[in-house]
Amino acid sequence: MPSPTQNAKAHDTLKHYFGHDSFRPFQWEIISESLNGSDVFALLPTGGGKSLCYQLPAILNDGLTVVISPLIALMKDQVDGLEANGIHATYLNSSLNKTEAKKRYAKLFAGEYTILYVAPERLMLSGFLDDLKQWNVTRFAVDEAHCISEWGHDFRPEYRQLSNLRRLFPEKPFMALTATATDRVRKDILSQLRLKEPKTFVASFNRPNLDYRIETKQAVFQQILRYIQSKPYESGIIYCYSRKATENLADKLRQSGIEALPYHAGMTPIKRAENQEAFIRDEIKVICATIAFGMGIDKPNVHYVIHQDLPKNIEGYYQETGRAGRDGLPSDCILYFSPGDVAKQLQFIADKNNPKERDVATTQLRQMVHYSESSECRRKVLMGYFSEDWTEGNCGNCDNCRNPKSTFDGTLPAQKFMSCIFRVQQASGFSVGINHIVDVLLGSKNEKVLKWRHDRLSTYDIGQEYRRQEWQAFGRELIRNGYIDQNTENHSVLELTRKGKSALRERSPIVLTQPSVANVTKIHPRGPSTGGIECNEELFTSLRALRKELASEQGVPPYIVFSDVTLREMARDFPIGESQLSEISGVGLAKLEKYGEAFIEAIQAFLDANPEAGIEDLKPSY
Ligand code: ADP
Ligand code: ZN
Repeated sequence: MPSPTQNAKAHDTLKHYFGHDSFRPFQWEIISESLNGSDVFALLPTGGGKSLCYQLPAILNDGLTVVISPLIALMKDQVDGLEANGIHATYLNSSLNKTEAKKRYAKLFAGEYTILYVAPERLMLSGFLDDLKQWNVTRFAVDEAHCISEWGHDFRPEYRQLSNLRRLFPEKPFMALTATATDRVRKDILSQLRLKEPKTFVASFNRPNLDYRIETKQAVFQQILRYIQSKPYESGIIYCYSRKATENLADKLRQSGIEALPYHAGMTPIKRAENQEAFIRDEIKVICATIAFGMGIDKPNVHYVIHQDLPKNIEGYYQETGRAGRDGLPSDCILYFSPGDVAKQLQFIADKNNPKERDVATTQLRQMVHYSESSECRRKVLMGYFSEDWTEGNCGNCDNCRNPKSTFDGTLPAQKFMSCIFRVQQASGFSVGINHIVDVLLGSKNEKVLKWRHDRLSTYDIGQEYRRQEWQAFGRELIRNGYIDQNTENHSVLELTRKGKSALRERSPIVLTQPSVANVTKIHPRGPSTGGIECNEELFTSLRALRKELASEQGVPPYIVFSDVTLREMARDFPIGESQLSEISGVGLAKLEKYGEAFIEAIQAFLDANPEAGIEDLKPSY
């Protein structure tokens, strides 16, 4: 265990360089084990603060920390961020020209850097490993370590080279960090990297600052527009199913006065990079994207993620929503759900050739639908998916916990639904899908009903008391609860399970969720966003403008200058001296020197113009 002095030194360094007062969960444990020379495997959710886990030890130790990261596009920003905090760092990747690379090599040989970022490809270049030997390397960190695993979703063959690295540097501590790891991926990382008795830290996958909501999709553009208009200061990502949809949505948003751009893999690389850059630099507020967007994104102040269409699986949904609220401020994750999307996706799946692929896709989709329609706490379902228990009851931060769905004695509709399945099967000798069952219940005269003579069944036209969507929802709930099986290998036809048959026979009571009516006008009760930190919004706005100005002068994204958290704290506490300013979280020594004066001036100017602002906020709160 690290000594108390080591602990105090680490805290001082945290404040001095990064401006933070305390560690996030597991950061200190991870850092201290690495300082003690152990290998470490750390699984922290997005926004958990993984970078700090290798950056701080790098500062505390002499020598060079080598970070292997697949995110080439991010290296420059990361290095700019470190330099802004007064830490000497650099990167080597294919984007550098010869002269620039040479310059950096010379400085590496001269021992002038604390941190070096490299892409895994670099490890395969001849001579690179020999160079590393001469650079006084203290520790290796493998970021986004799931890429190492062929089970991870973006497996890079180059990562196989990492085992060589381990062989060449048997005595140096290794760190592997990732936000994604199922058991299988985790084991793969450990064995690929040959970590030695690694100390493993697995943080909770709960993201307490994310608010999960599912809304019925109806006039979805209006729903999205109203939401965005209720968040005038925030930026967000809207995920869409298709490339075309991203472009349409971005166009329509722009026509409604919202700065939005599309992003998808069909655009030219230049256009794509431009749009991403505009988003990162706060030049636009909204990016409408396919799932191609996000891997190389490190924007901490994304404060909402909207899914306009149903994601294909929970893992993807968790990752995508996870891009909201990295800075810890409250953020919304809204999914617009419609049964029509489910049908559309089932159709896509049915068109796949490979039966195994079809199976996997169907199971994943079913889990996603279950999550969307469940009346349980969203956190509980999500975390359960990652084998983590949620034991705290009402989370207070998802739609189902805020407004528990009401249930009713649904025995009668359940009986009608199930006996309709039974009668169809009995009369025709084959099973049918959910829509056909609903057609029969509602007395439809469509072609199939008539052709198969299902208008003669005793269950024909016995369901007028509910609407089509309501019957469909009951059907899906009965599937979720194991009364009915939806046979994915056979056109998703419905069959009664043993549980269903016995419930039908014995007329067992069945509780169903009260059908919900789409509520297009609903806006989140939290009202206009204060970003979780109550502050003077006018000052916040002008500080953001100042931040953007400084950032573009230096050619860096605004968040490299200061985070939203930092600006909000300034607009709450009105620091007008250097020592007051250094109390604000995120203000380290280097940034104090570089930006302190400009921000103090801006705050002072604001106070001069609004003398009552500071006084009101200084009132003690009893
Ligand atoms: P991850 O890579 O795990 O998603 P990052 O390393 O990008 O997370 O950190 C996310 C955000 O949290 C960054 O804005 C970072 O400055 C901030 N952060 C990290 N550690 C701390 C801390 N101890 N206190 C306050 N903010 C922190
Ligand atoms: Zn909840």
